[in-house]
Amino acid sequence: MANQYAVIGLGRFGISIAAKLFESGQEVLGVDMNEERVEESHPYVTHSVIADSTDAEALKAIGIRNFDTVVVAIGSDIQASILSVLLVKELGVKNVIAKAINKLHGQVLRKVGADWVVYPERDMGIRVAHHLLSPNVLNFIEISKDHSVEEVKIPSKMVNKTLREIDFRAKYNLSVIAIRNDNEINITPSPDQRIVQGDVLVVIGENKDLERFSKIG
Ligand code: ATP
Repeated sequence: MANQYAVIGLGRFGISIAAKLFESGQEVLGVDMNEERVEESHPYVTHSVIADSTDAEALKAIGIRNFDTVVVAIGSDIQASILSVLLVKELGVKNVIAKAINKLHGQVLRKVGADWVVYPERDMGIRVAHHLLSPNVLNFIEISKDHSVEEVKIPSKMVNKTLREIDFRAKYNLSVIAIRNDNEINITPSPDQRIVQGDVLVVIGENKDLERFSKIG
């Protein structure tokens, strides 16, 4: 069964979350106090309503507590963002995700009950800088403070060698969890798989080892 999502605040951030969920077959309610934003959202959501999310009665009227997950995507009006998260949590929503525009805003959102605080500008900035510093790294996910999973373009000196020949794990202290090429992905690469031009390795390991590996030409 599809999950029920509500996205409060249909700016660029909110609408991109709503549209992706909707495209993936989920039920999405869009909420904004701005009538124009609500009208523009129609192609991207199941329903949308005009409401002020700092008004508890309005949230009750929408039946907000029936949603599995509520995203509060209000940024610049910090007071409205905080109050909305507080009310949505008080009305009993289990999973509330909120956008913060800075650290202090994020800390307050956690205090009033947000289950997950996201910092889109900060995180995107970090990703862009990361990519500039390590152009071979196409994508990464931090899995702890010191460990990540990265998609790395294959260094040219490894082309036409097998993982065994490269002695990958011993030499780089990293594990290859998948090898991707165009539209194909092999999620159980054998040590004898030969790496070809254009392959992308999905590797897991310590950040310091990943950094060393991504600098190989
Ligand atoms: P983005 O950066 O995502 O494009 P934005 O720059 O339009 O957002 P924000 O202030 O973050 O500006 O507002 C996002 C949306 O949240 C706006 O469409 C705004 O109308 C809506 N919004 C702000 N306050 C409330 C509120 N109390 N209730 C409902 N919607 C609100």
